[in-house]
This record gives sequence, structure tokens and C-alpha cells, in this order.
Amino acid sequence: MPLTPLADAQKFVLDSCQVLPTISVPLADAIGCVVAIDMVSGEAIPPFDNSAVDGFAVIAADTAIAPSQLRVVGTLAAGAEWPSPIQRGTALKIMTGAPIPGGADAVVMVEDSVMHDDTVTLSRSVRPADGLRRSGSDVLEGDLVFPAGTVLSAAHLGVVASLGITHPSVIRRPRVAVLSTGDELVGDGSPLGPGQIRDSNRVSLVALLAEAGVTPIDVGLLRDDEALLEATLRDAVEQCDAIVTSGGVSMGDYDVVKAVLSRIADMTWMQIDIKPAKPFAFGLLGRLDGTQVPIFGLPGNPVSSLVGFELLARPALKKMMGYTNLNRLTLAATVVEPLRRNKDGKTHFIRVTAVADDTGRLVARPQGAQGSHHLKAMADANALAVVPDGDTVPVGAVVPVIILR
Ligand code: AMP
Ligand code: MG
Repeated sequence: MPLTPLADAQKFVLDSCQVLPTISVPLADAIGCVVAIDMVSGEAIPPFDNSAVDGFAVIAADTAIAPSQLRVVGTLAAGAEWPSPIQRGTALKIMTGAPIPGGADAVVMVEDSVMHDDTVTLSRSVRPADGLRRSGSDVLEGDLVFPAGTVLSAAHLGVVASLGITHPSVIRRPRVAVLSTGDELVGDGSPLGPGQIRDSNRVSLVALLAEAGVTPIDVGLLRDDEALLEATLRDAVEQCDAIVTSGGVSMGDYDVVKAVLSRIADMTWMQIDIKPAKPFAFGLLGRLDGTQVPIFGLPGNPVSSLVGFELLARPALKKMMGYTNLNRLTLAATVVEPLRRNKDGKTHFIRVTAVADDTGRLVARPQGAQGSHHLKAMADANALAVVPDGDTVPVGAVVPVIILR
């Protein structure tokens, strides 16, 4: 079987995955979601002129010659309002966030004042607008605050809340079913029998899905049993927007995922020109209503499974969420320990630690053993160095590194 170029596989997968519909969600559930409809403000932020400091609202001209003395007419807390305008020669004690009273055009910080009885001595003069936060200085009413396509971060959610929007319109988060397969796997922490190993992929994939911002549905660990797998997939497809499977997609005799999916879904089986994560399957599985759900068949080797997810599933799920930037941050790093490889027609994704050195330059060194079962080395790494086909990359070379965390 000829190797499929990674870029072709990625394009094929992306072209088969569509952006999900728009839905309005409670603000607290919108983190990481993509704004679906241009968000225009119906309110100004701040909504009124208010004090930036704790101090004294004054007419700036009254402080022109420092020190100045003004009669204090009262105290105003945030959330209250002063009923009458400030007159020349007077000041209003005011707290941060309280509305600026009529007549006043500046606030003197409390640090620059001394109060005695109903008089305040101000040691500094201020100019009009000093100590004020103007209405609309952050956002004006009618502003296009966040255009469709904006990814909502924590700060964005704060702005949306400030605008009084409780249920923003966003692209719906995909629900993604995940399952692992393998007769040798133990998923519940019980003692290992002969030939058994523990199911590590499912928990990592669930975590990667959650980190990507989709809603994971853990369908469980399945025996290598065709009837069970088929029934589980047919059930899962009705409840989700995508399916991720681990294991059983390569050339082995018991690769039941391959046997079942070949029969019930429209699949493409690939050997991609990358290491790790060469075996990969992608296809569409039909629902009862005739719609189709993308299915990602990841290899079982733990590092392959996670790297395959990164390179092929994650960008597609991001697309379904409405993202236009589908890739993780990729930076150029200087190699400070050789990235060992042989020429084999594949691009290698070498697990590296990428950190800034004393001078602030990003440097990368390989992180431990590079076998596709060396999951601990992957856990200890924070990036994947992208090494195109060729020989070992020497010290001093600059390579792209995909920052995982
Ligand atoms: P497979 O892709 O099913 O042929 O599996 C390839 C290798 O990965 C075998 O050594 C499996 O035991 C191992 N493997 C498969 N699934 C998992 C899993 N969920 N967790 C850990 N290792 C796995
Ligand atoms: Mg297997």
C-alpha cells in the first residue's frame, strides 16, 4: 500500500467534516466556543462616567493652585447616585466605580488628600478628566464587539457579560464518542492477567477531546468482538457528532475495527507518510435518519494514537466547532541535541522538550525514547518537532515544533 502524504490525508478529513449549527448557550458554557453571529453591543462599557479611584470628585479648576481646600458635601459609594451638581469650592468623597456627580470633571486620589471635619486639603492639582473612566471608553453602544468567528476566551466572556448578554449565539460544541478496543486491555485497575496491558488510550483521548473544547462521550473499552463493536457503534452514532476509536486499524488478524467499519461505514484506510501514527482510518458512518458522522480510526499504540489525534482528528473537530485557525501554535526552535532518525520516506514527529534558553531563544531537545509505545516520554515532552524525511537533524539546525502545552 503506497503511503498517503499527511497533507492529503488532512485535507481529505477536513473536507469531510462540516461546521456544526448555531445554538445559544449559557455564558458559562461558552468558553472556547466560536461566535456564530456578529456581536453588536446594545450598551456602552462603562455604562456611565465613573471614578477610577477612591478620592474626591472636584471641579478641576478648584485645584489649580496646590494645596487647595474644598468643603466636602458628602460621600458616594459605587452603586449609588449623587442627586445634585457639585458647586465651585466643594468636593464629593467618592469611591471607585461610583458615578461622577454633575458639575465635577475630575477626581483627586485619596492618597493626595487630608480630611479634617468637613474640609479636605488636596496636595495636588488635577486636570479635567483626571481620575475618570468615561462612558463607552471600552465599548461604545453599537460597536461590532466580536465578529462571527471570534473564539471566546475568559476575557471575551467577561465582555459578553458586561454587555448583558447571557446566552450568546455560538457554533455548537461537537459531542464526540470515544472507545478503545482490544482483548488484551484492562480498563478498570484490576490485576493484569497473562498478556494483558492497561487501557491508556481512552483516558488520554477523552482528556484531549475535552482540552480541544468538544464534549467527550466515553463509550468504554470493547472486546475484539465484531457484533459488540457494531452494536456499540450503531448506538453511539445516534448520539454524537463524531466518533474516535483506538486500536484495530492496522494489519493484524484481530483488527476488528477494520472488519466492522469496512462493512458498515464508508471508510478510507490509510498508511500515512508519518512516524508515529502511520495507520489511520477515516470515514463516515450513517445514522438512522440518513445523516452521516465522521469517524476517526486511530492506531492502538499509545503514542501513535495521541499523535494521530493531534494531526488528523483535532483540526477536524476544531473545524466542526467553527474555528478557522485549526492548528496548534507552531514555533521555530533551535536543536540543541541531535534529533536522531533514518531516511524512510516519512516525516517524523519527534517528542521534544522546547524551552527558552538564557537568551530567550527557543531550543528543543529530544525527550527520551521515541518508540510508539513510549508514552512516558510523550508525557514528559511538551512539543512535537516536525522532521521531514532525511537524516538526523544536527545541533544548531532550526526546526518547527508543534507546542502541545
Ligand atoms: P492495535 O492497533 O490494536 O493493533 O494495537 C497496537 C498496539 O497498541 C498493541 O500493542 C496494543 O496492545 C496497544 N494498544 C491498543 N489499544 C490500546 C489502548 N487503548 N491502550 C494502550 N495500549 C493499546
Ligand atoms: Mg488491537
